[in-house]
Amino acid sequence: DYLFKLLLIGDSGVGKSCLLLRFADDSYIESYISTIGVDFIVYDVTDEESFNNVKQWLSEIDRYASDNVNKLLVGNKSDLTANRVVSYETAKAFADEIGIPFMETSAKDSTNVEQAFMAMSAAIKNR
Ligand code: GDP
Repeated sequence: DYLFKLLLIGDSGVGKSCLLLRFADDSYIESYISTIGVDFIVYDVTDEESFNNVKQWLSEIDRYASDNVNKLLVGNKSDLTANRVVSYETAKAFADEIGIPFMETSAKDSTNVEQAFMAMSAAIKNR
C-alpha cells in the first residue's frame, strides 16, 4: 500500500479547491501522514501573475519539502478561452525546461481533471 500526501499549490483564486472538489465528487480522498509528497502547482491561464509566481512556489517546495516529490504543473481555467493570457506553448516550454510534466485543466467543464490526478497516481506507482 502507498501512503501519500497530495498538495495543490498556487496563488489564491487559481482554482485549487474547485479542482479537488471536481475530482472528489466521484471519489474518496483521505489524508495520511506523508511518506511520499505529490505536488500540483497550479496557475490560472487567464492570470499571468499566477503563472509567474509558479517559480516562487517551486522554490518554496524545494526549500520545505523532501526530495521525494513528484510534481505536475497544472494550468487551470482552460475553458476561459477569450480571457487566456498564458499560452499552452509558453507553459509547456517552461515545464520542459525544468523537467516537470504539464497539463491544462478546467474544473468548470471537467477537462483533464481526472487525467491530472491519474497522472500523479501513475507517477507514484511507477516510482
Ligand atoms: P483556490 O483559491 O485556488 O482554491 O481557487 P478556487 O477553487 O476557490 O476558485 C477561485 C475562483 O475561480 C472561483 O470563483 C471558481 O469558481 C473559479 N474557477 C475555478 N476553477 C475554474 C475553471 O476551471 N474555470 C473557470 N471558468 N472558473 C474556475
